[in-house]
Amino acid sequence: MPAQTHLFRCLQDNFGVLVHDPATGATASIDAPEAEPVEAALKETGWRLTDILVTHHHGDHTGGIKALKEHHHCRVIAPRAEAARIPAVDVEIGEGDEVKVGSIKGRVLETPGHTAGHISYWFADEQLAFVGDTLFSIGCGRVIEGTPEMMWNSLLKLRALPDATKVYCGHEYTAANIRFAKTIEPNNKDLAAREQEVTKLLANHKSTVPSLLGAEKKENVFLRADVPAVAAAVGLSGHSPAEVFAEVRARKNKF
Ligand code: ZN
Ligand code: FE
Repeated sequence: MPAQTHLFRCLQDNFGVLVHDPATGATASIDAPEAEPVEAALKETGWRLTDILVTHHHGDHTGGIKALKEHHHCRVIAPRAEAARIPAVDVEIGEGDEVKVGSIKGRVLETPGHTAGHISYWFADEQLAFVGDTLFSIGCGRVIEGTPEMMWNSLLKLRALPDATKVYCGHEYTAANIRFAKTIEPNNKDLAAREQEVTKLLANHKSTVPSLLGAEKKENVFLRADVPAVAAAVGLSGHSPAEVFAEVRARKNKF
């Protein structure tokens, strides 16, 4: 039986998402920005919270863990490198480790850069990836604790997943990300089509997430630092993709 997902908004612009295994009834919350909207989502779906899968230590991804664990006695699974900064951790995990939500199996991909120990969760059979604040729809997270090169390598790791992968990220930033991406790739037709799609979704109060990884590869400038036209657009033809990525990321910070 395929996994079911339920996406909802938390805080200002965070996403919460539940992953449910209909075979066993197990349900994981990917991160826990705050307890209340997660509780409301559980009520709406009728699902029982068994696990919280944490991507990184920032408060807008961990603020709800304590209250949810007290109420549901769920298991808290978190990146080993950041476990000391995350409340109530039960299981510490790292690169390649298997994660189970009931009978649904996923794998841990270490994707450092935004934070030094950031991880993503990939459920290959379900074609789902939960990438926290590493990859956004048409964007990527700020490089806060790592180096641009580290972040670029993390993005390459995510880019290597199959095109049909549905990508769930931590924030609704897509519209602003598209405005920026157009400054680097004004003639990217796929990006222009995506802008129309996103404008329509937001006008109808819908989320722009998940997106398909295959689309991100064509439209997300942060996954395209090794495309010669992108290097040229930032005046770095012939430079390494990591250098091009660093320049694109620096421009976004000032945008
Ligand atoms: Zn963060
Ligand atoms: Fe965040």
